[in-house]
Amino acid sequence: MEQGKNPEPTTTMEKIVSLAKRRGFVFPSSEIYGGLNSCWDYGPLGVELKNNVKRAWWKAMIQERDDMVGQDASILMHPQVWEASGHLQGFTDPLVDCKKCKQRFRADHLSTENCPQCGGELTEPRNFNLMFKTYMGPVEEQAAVVYLRPETAQGIFVNFQNILTTTRKKLPFGVGQIGKSFRNEITPGNFTFRTREFEQMEIEYFVKPGTDEEFYAHWVRVRFDWYKKLGINPDRLRLRDHAPEELAHYAKACSDIEYYFPMGWSELEGIANRTDFDLKRHTEYSGDKLDYFDHETNEHYIPYVIEPSAGADRATLAFLVDAYYEEPDKDDLRVVLRFHPTIAPIKVAVLPLSRKEQLTGLAKEICKDLRKHWVIDYDDAKSIGRRYRRQDEVGTPYCITVDFQSQEDQAVTVRDRDTMEQTRVSLIELVSFLHEKLD
Ligand code: ATP
Repeated sequence: MEQGKNPEPTTTMEKIVSLAKRRGFVFPSSEIYGGLNSCWDYGPLGVELKNNVKRAWWKAMIQERDDMVGQDASILMHPQVWEASGHLQGFTDPLVDCKKCKQRFRADHLSTENCPQCGGELTEPRNFNLMFKTYMGPVEEQAAVVYLRPETAQGIFVNFQNILTTTRKKLPFGVGQIGKSFRNEITPGNFTFRTREFEQMEIEYFVKPGTDEEFYAHWVRVRFDWYKKLGINPDRLRLRDHAPEELAHYAKACSDIEYYFPMGWSELEGIANRTDFDLKRHTEYSGDKLDYFDHETNEHYIPYVIEPSAGADRATLAFLVDAYYEEPDKDDLRVVLRFHPTIAPIKVAVLPLSRKEQLTGLAKEICKDLRKHWVIDYDDAKSIGRRYRRQDEVGTPYCITVDFQSQEDQAVTVRDRDTMEQTRVSLIELVSFLHEKLD
């Protein structure tokens, strides 16, 4: 597995935030009211991008594997789940306050993320629980307290027996889920990298104890390769094994896949060997046996669990940052997002050379046809050069130009975003030509 080479950052977070806002990828949440700290909305292109990331994960991790199934658990769960999982007691970060400016910091991130600018003295760290609390039903009393889940994983553990009996899977098998999680982070920041509401793509992979190390290594590789296959520059990816003192008390091993974000190497995803901790605890707290009967050996045991846990927003941000290139173009700068075609929010743009009905009519017909296959954009405003630039800036892999010849020869010009090469393609072959390029 390649290890990143500590490359030069290709861009700054300011440029990414500005492009994201300008082109409709990500907006500050509730902006007309001044925004809400660390909350972001995905705009028309952002939602396509993030959906593509999630779809690619679901397809490769669930659909294409016969040892995986999916589920979608609810965000609100029985409060005892969080007692059993240890979150109520232990899902805390060390919080310190600056006595002078009153700002709050996460004690274990002081050197990397933030430091009191005022130079004031800090309080002793105290533990701050990151779970969001709310009330179920109309009465605001302690008995009605529920939590917004801080991870999707527990929804899988509590359904272990349901999934086992309904799918009749044999070990090893896994369950995957994509969904929102909430953490009242002390210091959110770096755009969508750390927010209080975010989406996770998690797998709990159940194995026979004793085979866990082999499957742990398998998943580290599978997950690392997934980012590479979708075009992330391997120089900006690395694996970081957790030191024994960093490990959660129940974990036997943990590795982070890190990406070289503009603020430096940071966690994209964690892969952990969680042993039998979770199923054991839920067995203990619920009284339901969450074990497995092995027909081959005729024994009951509690499986071990390998957990690859990724962030959909972090992955989306990494794809955005990684795709960003600036190139000299005459006296100007060409900004191009070199997304992998699977990830690109718009796959093809149709651009009639002029606004004359003769061209726009045909261009719109082509759009209608292509929309059955992909997300398509239509643009007839301003010069063709400007329109190519606009598509480059949002990472559209192919632009189709409809010109005055097109009616006659029933053909269009297809321009490649990366090579900028132009190919004349007949209308009859257009869909298959694009399928070959995009799929
Ligand atoms: P950190 O140490 O950075 O707080 P963590 O190790 O607690 O993160 P995990 O609990 O392992 O994170 O969560 C799994 C994945 O979920 C992370 O790798 C990340 O991609 C995503 N994630 C976790 N917290 C956040 C957050 N606040 N905002 C966005 N994504 C997050």
